[in-house]
Amino acid sequence: MSARVLVVDDVPANVKLLEARLSAEYFDVITASCGMQALEICARAECDIVLLDVMMPDIDGFEVCRRLKSDPRTHFIPVVMVTALDSPADRVRGLDAGADDFLTKPVSDVVMIARVRSLTRLKMMTDELRMRALTSLEIGVSAPERSAIVDTGKGGRILLVDDRPSSYERLAPVLATEHAVDVESNPAEALFHAAEGNYDLLIVSLDLENFDGLRLCSQARSLERTRSLPLLAIASADNNTRLLRGLEIGVNDYLLRPVDKNELLARARTQIRRRRYTDHLRDNVQTSIEMAVTDPLTALHNRRYMETHLATLAEQAAQRARPLALMMLDIDYFKSINDAYGHDAGDDVLREFALRIRKSIRGIDLACRYGGEEFVIVMPETDLHVAGMVAERLRRAIAGEPFTAGKGGKRLDVTISIGIASLDIKGEAIGDVLKRADQALYRAKHDGRNRVVAAAA
Ligand code: GH3
Ligand code: MG
Ligand code: MG
Repeated sequence: MSARVLVVDDVPANVKLLEARLSAEYFDVITASCGMQALEICARAECDIVLLDVMMPDIDGFEVCRRLKSDPRTHFIPVVMVTALDSPADRVRGLDAGADDFLTKPVSDVVMIARVRSLTRLKMMTDELRMRALTSLEIGVSAPERSAIVDTGKGGRILLVDDRPSSYERLAPVLATEHAVDVESNPAEALFHAAEGNYDLLIVSLDLENFDGLRLCSQARSLERTRSLPLLAIASADNNTRLLRGLEIGVNDYLLRPVDKNELLARARTQIRRRRYTDHLRDNVQTSIEMAVTDPLTALHNRRYMETHLATLAEQAAQRARPLALMMLDIDYFKSINDAYGHDAGDDVLREFALRIRKSIRGIDLACRYGGEEFVIVMPETDLHVAGMVAERLRRAIAGEPFTAGKGGKRLDVTISIGIASLDIKGEAIGDVLKRADQALYRAKHDGRNRVVAAAA
C-alpha cells in the first residue's frame, strides 16, 4: 500500500511542484491550501504524513503543527515543515512545535523522498501497533497518546558513538544538559553496548576515524535487541550520498556538521519522545496479550491458553515418545463456602488455592483455571504413577492447612478432589485424555471427595 501524503501550501505552484515529484515516486498525494483545511483532513485520518508550509495566511505552519501534535487523534501523524526559513533557530522552532523534520526550499528531490519514505515507514509500523493496542485501551490501559503529548522528551538515556575527541567532547556536554549520556569511543564495542544498555537513543557519527559508521547503523538495524532503538546520524555536510544511504538503512534522523546545539537537543527530544510513545504502545499490546491468556483472579493461565498449548505439548510428547500427564482438580463443596462466608471469601480461597498449586508444581508444568473452581495441571515428562504422587501431595497441601479467607481472616478447612490421566494410549487425542481425567474426577467426587483417582488407560 502506498503512503498518502498531504501537501499543504498556500501557493498553488508550490503544491503542484511537490505533488508532481511525490506522484512520480508512486505516493498518493492530497493537497490543502490553508492550515484549517489541513487540520480537517488530518482529523479525518486521511493521510500518513504532512508536508507543511510555514507561512500561510490563516494559521501558520508552526501553529498547525502544534495543534496536530497536541491532539491525541492526530499526534502520531509525522509532520515535515517545508520552508524558505533556514536558520538553526527556525528549525528548532519547528521541532519544538513537534515537527518530525524540516526541509528547506528549494527542496532537494532525493532528500525529500528519502525523508517521506522513512517517516511513513515508521508511521505504518506505529499504526500496526496502535491497532493492536486499541483493544487494551478498551480494557482500561492508559492512552499512550496522552502521555506522549505531555512528554518533554528530556531525561532520556543516550549512547553517543564517536571516536574523535574533538567531536564528542563538544557534543556530549550539550546532550548532558537534558539527558544521561554515555560516550562509546570504540565503535567495535558500540553494538554490544547499545544492546545491553537500555538506551532511548543511539547517536552515531558517520565520520569515524577507524570504523564505517553506516555499517554500524545497519548492524544496529538488523540486531533484534537494537532494532527499534532510534538512530540519529551526524555527518559532514559534503556527504549527502552517505546520508541518503543512512536513511535507506533505517537511520531515523540526521544532523550536519557543524552541529547546532539547540538543533541537536531538539532532534534528540523528538526521537526520545517517539521512542517512549512506541514503547508505551508495545507495552499495551503486551498487556492485552497477557490479559487475553491470564485469569485475572488467580493470575494462572486461562482455559483458552491451556487449550491452545495443550495440543502443542501433546504433539511434542508423542513425537519424542515421552510421557505426559493431566490433573483435573475441583474444590469440594465450594458452593457452601460461598454460601456460608460470602463470595469474597470464596475468591480468597481461589487465590490461595492457586498459590498452593504454584508451590507444588514444577516450572515446566502448566497450571490453569479451567472454570469457576475447577483447575487443570498439565505435566510434561510425567507418567501416571508420578502424577499420582504429585496429586496426593497437592491434596494434602490443601487439606492439611486451613485457608485464611474473608473479613477478619477466618480459618476455613478446604478439600479438593483430583482426577488424573496420562497420554499413553497410542494415537489418543489429547481431548480424550482430558475427558478421562474428568471422569476420574467424577469418581473421586462420587467416592466421597478429598481424594485422588487415576483414570484407567
Ligand atoms: P462439588 O464438591 O461437587 O464440587 O460441589 P461444589 O459446591 O464445589 O460445586 P458446584 O459446581 O455446585 O458449585 C461451584 C460453585 O463455585 C458455584 C459458583 O457460584 C462458585 N464459583 C464459581 N466461580 C467463582 C468465583 O470466581 N468466585 C467465587 N467466590 N465463587 C465461584
Ligand atoms: Mg466443586
Ligand atoms: Mg464444580
